[in-house]
Amino acid sequence: MLTRKQAEAADSALLVGAKPVAGRMLRCPSCDALSISRQARHSLHPLWNLQCPACRAVLRLRRGRVVFFASLAALVLLTVSSLVGIGGLPKMPPALIVVWVFIVVAWYRILVGRLSLETKR
Ligand SMILES: [Zn+2]
Repeated sequence: MLTRKQAEAADSALLVGAKPVAGRMLRCPSCDALSISRQARHSLHPLWNLQCPACRAVLRLRRGRVVFFASLAALVLLTVSSLVGIGGLPKMPPALIVVWVFIVVAWYRILVGRLSLETKR
């Protein structure tokens, strides 16, 4: 059996051009290699996929679609409530809409930043 450090060293030797640096690389949920750069993870859109350079597994953000479409639905609801009002409520004032859009966008960005990677099935 290899220790964790030996396994990581073996992984890094196999990965051409991708040198795992402690804290900079993320572990692939499929092959467990430190093969995913934080930059690649950071720029991954919830609807996009990412391929592990080590095992070629197709990865995506866990619950990324839910977060994306929930945020989109919230923005659509805000837009509708600013134009016609929802459920008999009066139209939402523009200043309140702006505040809520900022809240939804901030919530979306925080959530997407915290999502873990999963193997696409
Ligand atoms: Zn992998």
